[in-house]
Amino acid sequence: MASNATKTLKASCLCGAASYETTVRSSSLPLKSWWCSCTSCRRMTGTLALCVVYLPESYSPPQAVLEKLTVFEFTKRVFQYFCSTCGSHILARCLDDAEAKEPKVTWDAMSGTLEKFDGFVHLRGHEFINDTLDGGISDFVPTIGGRKMDRYSTRPEKSEQLSLNWKDPKIAKLKPNKGKVHAQCKCGGVEFWIAHPSARSTHAASNWPDLLRPNAPDNPNNECWWLQDNNTKFLAGTCSCNTCRLASGQEIVQWAFVPTVDITLDAAGEVKFERQFGTLKQFESSEGIFRSFCGVCGASAFYWADDRPFLMDVAIGLLDAPEGARAENLLEWRTTRLSYREDALGRAKGVVEGIESGLQAYGERRDRGEREVIERQVREEGAKVMVVR
Ligand SMILES: [Zn+2]
Ligand SMILES: [Zn+2]
Ligand SMILES: [Zn+2]
Repeated sequence: MASNATKTLKASCLCGAASYETTVRSSSLPLKSWWCSCTSCRRMTGTLALCVVYLPESYSPPQAVLEKLTVFEFTKRVFQYFCSTCGSHILARCLDDAEAKEPKVTWDAMSGTLEKFDGFVHLRGHEFINDTLDGGISDFVPTIGGRKMDRYSTRPEKSEQLSLNWKDPKIAKLKPNKGKVHAQCKCGGVEFWIAHPSARSTHAASNWPDLLRPNAPDNPNNECWWLQDNNTKFLAGTCSCNTCRLASGQEIVQWAFVPTVDITLDAAGEVKFERQFGTLKQFESSEGIFRSFCGVCGASAFYWADDRPFLMDVAIGLLDAPEGARAENLLEWRTTRLSYREDALGRAKGVVEGIESGLQAYGERRDRGEREVIERQVREEGAKVMVVR
């Protein structure tokens, strides 16, 4: 009988310590999923959105898996579980009523940990865009597989939908600001500041080019690819490689490339950056390649390589920029490429193609907007010149 058909859902963290599988009825597939852009989810994952998948109500994880995980009280109703070894967010335990003696318990999976996505997960859209101020990831991924993603300001189906390019009115009133950008994880155990680029930002070295530019074989002249926009911004990009996905538990991760000299552990800029500070834990994801995450809330924080010691990949979800989640006064997003699409294409084709076309279109809108500003300035300057004459 077709109605009794089942499929096996497999999930794993990066190190493999917390793997599990469960049988789900085919009739309950695909499982419903949302990308949450709320500030708490960004701070807890280090990414621009947490991708949550609702597991069947009957599901409960084996004790042996839970023992490998660290639990973090996200809210009174939601408890997040991440791998104690590699930091991957795996599961969330949700109570229907935090006050009840015997609350109903359901479990969510983090989509990035699922072995299969297409056919298993239906990503409905974005929620809590309001918190991002600038639209966050929702402007990068407006459609998936040709289907328009829902764009809820707060709770799905219970709040208004926001248009593409929505921005919180308060960011239009911001004065240009080159102050340090604050960053922290959800629990506050990992906290640091990033200065805007300056002359010293060119002193970092990288003997291999940015992973966003795979066609350049090496970097013999130490071209400062991490600096963009006339050396006024750091490069930012999106990655869909299997390692980033499994390390975070999220579908897509976002990194900023920042020299260590521009990161400090205090707002005054006096306490130098170190790889180990606060509640950070490290995991060597391959030889000489390290990823660090918060040992309390599981947020991804940094990626670095032993042969590139003065340049860090910084998890963008931790940034607290006044202009919004994308931190575009500090970062220049590369919109022409999603890194390691080949890792993700066979697993989540719609997501890969959705983010690629969405990013491209976003970049074109952004560049057109910047051109219009320059043209307006030229027109206005031109008008002033006329008056002086
Ligand atoms: Zn693990
Ligand atoms: Zn959230
Ligand atoms: Zn934390």
